[in-house]
Amino acid sequence: MTTQILPPKILLIQSDAAAADKIRAALATAGSRSFELEWVLELSEGLARLSKGGIDAVLLELSLPDSHGIETFDKLFNSVPEIPILILGNGNEALAKEAVGRGAQDYILAGHLDSYSLPRALHSAIERKAVEDALYFEKERAVVTLNSIGDAVLCTGISGNITYLNLVAEAMTGWRREEATGKPLAEVFRIIDGHTRKTARDPMEMAVEENRTVGLTVNCILIRRDGIESAIEDSAAPIHDRAGRVIGAVIVFHDVTAARAMSVRMTHSAEHDIVTNLPNRLLLNDRISQSITFARRRNKSLAVVFLDLDHFKNINDSLGHAVGDKLLQSVSKRLLASVRGSDTVSRQGGDEFAILLSEISHPEDAATSAKKILLSLGAAHSIAGQDLHVDGSIGISIYPGDGEDAETLIKNADTAMYHAKENGRNNFQFFKADMNLKAVERQTLEGSLRGALEREEFVLHYQPKVNLDTGEITGVEALIRWRHPDRGLLPPTQFVPIAEDCGLILPIGRWVLREACRQARGWQEAGLPFIRISVNVSAAEFRATTFLAEVSASLKETGLEARYLDLELTESALMLRAESSAAILHSLKAMGVHLAVDDFGTGYSSLSYLQRFPIDILKIDKSFVHQITGDLDDSPIVGAIINMGKSLKQRVIAEGVETEQQLAFLQGQHCLEGQGYLFSQPLPAAQLAHLLQTGIAETVVH
Ligand code: C2E
Ligand code: CA
Ligand code: CA
Repeated sequence: MTTQILPPKILLIQSDAAAADKIRAALATAGSRSFELEWVLELSEGLARLSKGGIDAVLLELSLPDSHGIETFDKLFNSVPEIPILILGNGNEALAKEAVGRGAQDYILAGHLDSYSLPRALHSAIERKAVEDALYFEKERAVVTLNSIGDAVLCTGISGNITYLNLVAEAMTGWRREEATGKPLAEVFRIIDGHTRKTARDPMEMAVEENRTVGLTVNCILIRRDGIESAIEDSAAPIHDRAGRVIGAVIVFHDVTAARAMSVRMTHSAEHDIVTNLPNRLLLNDRISQSITFARRRNKSLAVVFLDLDHFKNINDSLGHAVGDKLLQSVSKRLLASVRGSDTVSRQGGDEFAILLSEISHPEDAATSAKKILLSLGAAHSIAGQDLHVDGSIGISIYPGDGEDAETLIKNADTAMYHAKENGRNNFQFFKADMNLKAVERQTLEGSLRGALEREEFVLHYQPKVNLDTGEITGVEALIRWRHPDRGLLPPTQFVPIAEDCGLILPIGRWVLREACRQARGWQEAGLPFIRISVNVSAAEFRATTFLAEVSASLKETGLEARYLDLELTESALMLRAESSAAILHSLKAMGVHLAVDDFGTGYSSLSYLQRFPIDILKIDKSFVHQITGDLDDSPIVGAIINMGKSLKQRVIAEGVETEQQLAFLQGQHCLEGQGYLFSQPLPAAQLAHLLQTGIAETVVH
């Protein structure tokens, strides 16, 4: 598209015809296409013409028939401010100058109305007006932009005095532009460091000095004229002149009060546990480190108390997470009530809590606190209409003896806690240096456990179960042992828990199941009496999705009939996900396998579940059997379990029968089966075969 450039249209407002002719002549000789001239005699005529549009510039005589002097210019300028006006000087140069001061582009004297000067003056008037308009537009645009952005903008000159504020800057500083202009920056833009509350460094100075855009002090606070403070984030950039010299600065800033409040909240949630709102391990670490610094200076000690709830997982799994969470909240309240305000109770995750006792005089102080904690935990927690009981095991480490930094102290308290658990739970233990040795030992053991299966270092021993009336062997329990190359024959208590922790229990359990079935079938094939074989199953094995398939494959491969296999599961293994346990148990049952609850009476079982499970056998835990003194009143639990088993039509087997007295008591209670050293130790397969042939020594059973 091409645009045709038309010659500029000039309106001449001039009463003197001779002068008008002269002008016409001057413009005509300048070239026919350069200007188009229209001539009117009076101002009113001129205004009328201008209102129709199309005029590019006006040549104005100030003395007209209908208007005189500067007024002529004013009237014209007011009605068409956008059109450049060139004043015809006509001898009164002062008046012409005044008009220029009021907005006329220029004036031209009568002597210069020639074909050279007049066109030049007109052209430059038109151009200048165009540039002025563009500049004005640009400035307007900048102002509108600056006022419509959300950031506050403030400019200074080289002296550091304010030259400009946008609307947001006005609102945030409390200064209007008119008042602020010319004032030193520091007076209008009062900023301090939020931490020290000292005046923050002048941002402009920095920007000018470094001649680059600089971000300001983190945590900067702006104090408004009325004293109200807001957190701001800002940057300052130098302004340069054409030669590249710094002539001022622009400071851009915005309110971050809300963002900072949010970040405070975020910090809180990063340092606290959601369920209990207690400090988390991060914050505890911090607090311990602080306390250490403090204790070191003043030669004091402090203690870290590590608490793990006993059997919490069972509650969580059987009653649901909502109840579990409520219990954790109740526990955290008790903990807070058991320690001093200056101590820190934290949740480490799961059912673990760590408490910093920030100032203790003796280790006994920590022991006192631990006792207090265990005592307060022990009372029933009433949650969702039921009374829940939870115990804890506690480990304690003391600064400086047990560690010089937070991490070591927590780790050692944790180690001590494990020992408390091994010690029968619901007690506390101080950390001892050799505990770590044991931990190291455990690790080495784990290392060698990994290859034990391939090296065929495992062996099964078999302990007979005996009919307490007849002395007949009714079955055997397969019990694993590890022939450790350096340490000799290790009992399962020394490696099964490790295998459970590191997952090795799955392949090991698979081996036990096959080996036990193979052995039982072997005895049958050798013509020995048909007996039942029982295999211990860990919670992890029971929960493995492949478990059912494993059992059926073992039976199939070894040719043992399912009815000769008993699986022993502990109460706690069954109670973990009680609902899905029921389904697995029913499938096993359908296969023909018998199911036993091992260590009965020690777990956290819900009788209603037990009733629903297809259980065939209850094995009374040996700890109850060992309590038997012969006096009926001293052993009510054993009696109760035997009766319960009978009413549920289950076989009841007493474990750990060691004495004649225990045997007599069990017989008196009509407990049908027993197992224990009194009848036989667990034996290697060959010896057990021999026992199967000869039977249990008659002297034992009456
Ligand atoms: P458990 O299932 O309760 O096995 C009975 C434990 O009591 C055996 O210990 C046995 O030797 C011991 N015992 C037998 N009679 C008496 C007695 O008269 N008095 C006393 N004080 N103890 C007696 P063992 O063989 O050391 O096994 C310990 C535990 O290791 C077992 O307890 C069982 O939970 C676990 N375990 C053993 N073999 C296996 C296995 O193949 N797989 C799994 N997952 N766990 C196993
Ligand atoms: Ca067992
Ligand atoms: Ca047992």
